[in-house]
Amino acid sequence: MLQQTQMDRVIDYFKKWMRRFPDIPTLALARQDEVMKAWEGLGYYSRAGNIMKTAVVLMENGGKIPDNHTDLLRLPGIGPYTAGAIMSIAFNRDYPVVDGNVERVLARVFDVDIPVKTKQARNFFWEKAAKLLPTGRARDFNQAMMELGALVCLPKNPDCHLCPLQSQCRAIQFDTSSQRPVTGKSSTIIPIEMATGVLLKNNLVFIQKRQPDDVWANLWEFPGGRLKQDEKPEQALIREFFEETEFQVQLVKKITTVQHSYMQYRVILHCYFCRLVSDSDLPFLHAAQEYRWIAFSELDQFAFPAGHRKLIDFLLVTDKQTKPVPL
Ligand code: SF4
Repeated sequence: MLQQTQMDRVIDYFKKWMRRFPDIPTLALARQDEVMKAWEGLGYYSRAGNIMKTAVVLMENGGKIPDNHTDLLRLPGIGPYTAGAIMSIAFNRDYPVVDGNVERVLARVFDVDIPVKTKQARNFFWEKAAKLLPTGRARDFNQAMMELGALVCLPKNPDCHLCPLQSQCRAIQFDTSSQRPVTGKSSTIIPIEMATGVLLKNNLVFIQKRQPDDVWANLWEFPGGRLKQDEKPEQALIREFFEETEFQVQLVKKITTVQHSYMQYRVILHCYFCRLVSDSDLPFLHAAQEYRWIAFSELDQFAFPAGHRKLIDFLLVTDKQTKPVPL
């Protein structure tokens, strides 16, 4: 959960997760939808798929997490960072861990002026972390470095007067801490306009499950997609519905416009209620692996991407004016 995600966002998810999936056998037997639902809102959903696959692989091999680096790297979703974290924190073996917090500390202590995400910088950080690691103290050392970055060597206004590395820190010496690490990040936010439709029939809502190799794999969604050039949201929605399901739909009314951010994108999502024009309510799926017609009250049982979840939350709290009309 902590891959690419800050601790304070993870804590509640972690506690709920551990109550629902307290051990490897429980996770290995869980249904995919249940796992995705537990992950809903945390982002980077491939992690949920990988941890589930890992549980299955582990159960096929004795049900234990391997205590060697090479075997850990063979498990789905486990790269050098997670393998190093498990080896050092769980087994106290001498493996370094370099996350964003550690990168920031090292970039400042050594006043690294190359962009932090380049291969050259990465190699430097991993080599330095390995060299600095005191033999037999990996568990303490790695956690201390991560905590130092998370609590003291903050991205903005680091608390240098509290820092045990102050006397060795070159960024302090050269007054460069505000310029380290060099992110090289593009600050360009790309706006995207999309349209989506809540299709109703006999008071049931149509939802579909995204493909396993897609972005937001295995999450549920309302059909829809990105507007083409010069296309209106209404036109895009009718086109997308047909392309994805072969349903011909008619828009009934606009529900709302949802905005959310995703990586470097800012998504504006136009949301509509729709009715079916096609005779059959049986779709031909072209962008999904599965579909359901469900009661409105059941929407909360499925995991949706952030934009669609915002739409559902809006529908659930909003007044009768915007609630679906029976179709
Ligand atoms: S002295 Fe300041 S900039 Fe240097 S590592 Fe410590 S907190 Fe970070």
